[in-house]
Amino acid sequence: MMEQNNILYLDKEVPIEDRVNDLLNRLTLQEKIDLIRGKDLWTTNPVERLNIPSFGMTDGPIGVASHSSHHGKRTRFPATIMLASTWNKGLAFNMGEAMGKETKLSGRHQILGPGVNIIRSPLCGRNFEYLSEDPILSSDIAAEIVKGIQSQGIASCIKHYLTNNSETKRTKISTQISERALQEIYIKNYSRIINKADPWGFMVSYNKINGIYCAENKNILQNVLRDQLEFTGHVVTDWGAARRTSGAVGCIKAGLNLEMPGFLLSKVMTPKKVLKAINAGQLNEEDINYTVRPLLRTFFRVGLIEQRELFIEKVSDIPEHQKIAQMIAEEGMVLLKNNSNFLPLDLDKIKKIAILGPNSQKKFGKYLYGGSSAVVPPKEITPYDGISKYISGKAEIVSNIEDAEVVFLIVGLNHGGNILINLIIKREGDTEGNDRTHYALPAKQQELIRSTIIKNPNTVVILIAGSPIDVSDWFEDVPAILNSWYPGMMGGDALARVLFGDVNPSGKLPVTYPKRLEDHPAHITKKRFPGDLKNLKIYFDEDIYVGYRYFDKNQVEPFFPFGYGLSYTTFKLSNIQLDKSTIQEKGIFIVSVDIENTGDRAGSEVLQIYVTDDECSVERPPKELQGFEKVYLKPGEKQTVSVKLDESAFKFYSVEERKFIAEPGIFTIWADSSSRDLPLTTKITYIL
Ligand code: BGC
Repeated sequence: MMEQNNILYLDKEVPIEDRVNDLLNRLTLQEKIDLIRGKDLWTTNPVERLNIPSFGMTDGPIGVASHSSHHGKRTRFPATIMLASTWNKGLAFNMGEAMGKETKLSGRHQILGPGVNIIRSPLCGRNFEYLSEDPILSSDIAAEIVKGIQSQGIASCIKHYLTNNSETKRTKISTQISERALQEIYIKNYSRIINKADPWGFMVSYNKINGIYCAENKNILQNVLRDQLEFTGHVVTDWGAARRTSGAVGCIKAGLNLEMPGFLLSKVMTPKKVLKAINAGQLNEEDINYTVRPLLRTFFRVGLIEQRELFIEKVSDIPEHQKIAQMIAEEGMVLLKNNSNFLPLDLDKIKKIAILGPNSQKKFGKYLYGGSSAVVPPKEITPYDGISKYISGKAEIVSNIEDAEVVFLIVGLNHGGNILINLIIKREGDTEGNDRTHYALPAKQQELIRSTIIKNPNTVVILIAGSPIDVSDWFEDVPAILNSWYPGMMGGDALARVLFGDVNPSGKLPVTYPKRLEDHPAHITKKRFPGDLKNLKIYFDEDIYVGYRYFDKNQVEPFFPFGYGLSYTTFKLSNIQLDKSTIQEKGIFIVSVDIENTGDRAGSEVLQIYVTDDECSVERPPKELQGFEKVYLKPGEKQTVSVKLDESAFKFYSVEERKFIAEPGIFTIWADSSSRDLPLTTKITYIL
C-alpha cells in the first residue's frame, strides 16, 4: 500500500491539472504506454503500483447497452432521433442524467454517447442513434445530454468524429468533402457541443476524410479538435478503428489518446509497437506524455482513483428513469397527418378496435439487436400491450378488421437482427453496419396497408422506425399517420396516451422527408450515397446544402419539411420582437414571439427561429435554424417566448480566412413552428 501523505495526484482537493502533472511525473514510460491501449473490450490497463484502477466504458447512446455493462438490464430510452423530435432540451438533460446514473450502477466510468453524426441521408442504418440533419438542433440537444451524463461524474463520449454519416463500407470509405462543408455543417455540430457542455471524451470514426483515416488524421484531431475547438478531453478510437491506419506512429502523432481493440482485434498502439517506434527514434517520451495527458485528465474528472470499489447492479428497474423514457416518447411522437381531427379517439364513442401490423407486438430491446446501442430493458411495453391496457374495460380488441370502428396498423422498420449475425447475413433496417437500400416500407407491409384500407378505411398508420419513410403511396388513403420512432421501453403506454388524447402530440421532425429519394441532396447521384464503392469514396457533393438547406435553395417541395409536426390543438404566433435593432461583434440579442394556444386542448409548441443573410459575398443557404424553444400552454393561454442568439447566427466559414466570419449588413429573422411555414419576420443589422 502506498503512503498517501503529500501525494498530489491522490488528493482530490488539488486542481485537476496539478494532479495530472504529478501523476505524469510518477508514471514510468512503460506504464504510460500500457495506458494508451485497452486491456480488453471495455477497460484500460490499471496501474496497481500507483493505485490507478481500470477505466471502464459502456456503450450508449440510447441507454446503457447490455453487452458492455455486465449483461445488465437498463432503462431503454427512445431512440435519440425521437429525443431530437421533442425539441426539448430539459428532457435531453434528464435522459443524460439518468444514463449517467445507470452507467455508474454498471460499474463503468464513461458512456459511449451521444451519437451526433448529422443525418445526411434517410437511408443511413444508424439514423436512429443520431439526432438531426441540422447542426444547431443536433448540438443543442446533444449538449444537454452531455451535461446530464457528466453531472453524475461520468464521462460522455461524443461519437463518431467525423463524417461517419453512413454505414456502407464504413471502415474503408473516404469522405470527399470541401473544407467549407466540413466546417459549416459537420464540425460546427461538434464545436457547439464543446462550447456548451465541455464533453470529456470523443470517439474517432472508422472512415477516412479526403483520403486519411480519422484515427491518424492530424488535421481533424490536432488542428481542428484541439487547436480550433479547444477540446481538452481524450480521444478514443472507434472499436478497432486504428486497425487500418498506417500504424502507431501516425495515430500518436495525429493526436489519438486511446486505442480500443474491437471485435476483430486491432493491435496498433500495442506496448510492443510503441516501444519499437521509440527505440527507432520515431516517437519520444514527450509524444507519449502528450498522448496520455488527456486520458489522465478524464481519470481525475470521473474520480477514478476515489472510486476503487465498483458497485455493479444487475438490473436497473428505476421508475423515475422509466418516467423520463415515457415523457420523451410522448413528446417525440410526430403527428404526420390527421384528417378532420380523426385523432384523438374518444373511448365513449369507439368500442371496437383492431391492432395489427408487424411492429404491434415486437420487442426491440434485445442483446446486440441493431448493433452496439442495444439496451436490454427489464420490461418493454409494446404498442399492443399499451393500447390494450389503456382501453381495458372501455372498448374491446377485435381480430376482424371489418368489425372494427378503428384499426391501428403498426408498421415500420426493424433493427435488422443481432449485429454479429447481421455482419454475415446483412439484414436491412435501422442497424449498425448496414444502410437501407429502400426509402419505402418493405413490400409486404405496403401490401398490408393497401389490403387493410380496403377492408377498413378508418385505419391509423403508426410508424415505428428510426429513419424517414416514404409514405406517398398510401398517404391520401388513410385518415391519420403517427410517427412513433422507436419509443423505448415505455413506448406502448406513451402511444396509447397520444392516440386517446391524454397527451397532445408536439414532436417536430428533425429531418426532411423527401417526396422521392432522388429529390434528396444525398441521393442525386450514387456516388453521393452509398458512394463510389469500387474506389471506396463517398462524395458529399451537396456541400453545405444538407437537408432542408438544399430543399430551400433549389425550391424542391419536400413531403414533410424539417420542423414539421401537427397537434390536436392550434397555436397562433404573433408579435415578433427583437431587443435591439443593431448588433455588434460579441453581442447577444433576444428574439421574442407571442404564442397563444387557440384550441381547446392543452399542449406544447416549438418556436423555431431561422436566420437569412440578406446579402453576402458568398452563396449561403436561404435560411438556417439558429435557435428554438418549447412551451407548454393551456387552452387560451398566451406566453411570450424568447430565444437568445449571438453573432454566431450570422457567420459562415470563410475558406480564404480559414475561420467563421460574418459580413456587416441586414439579416432577416424568421419565426414559426416549421421550416416551411414562416410568416413572422423581422430584420436586424449587424455592424462591425
Ligand atoms: C461502434 C461504436 C461503439 C463501439 C463499441 C463500434 O463498432 O461504431 O458506436 O461504441 O463499436 O461497441
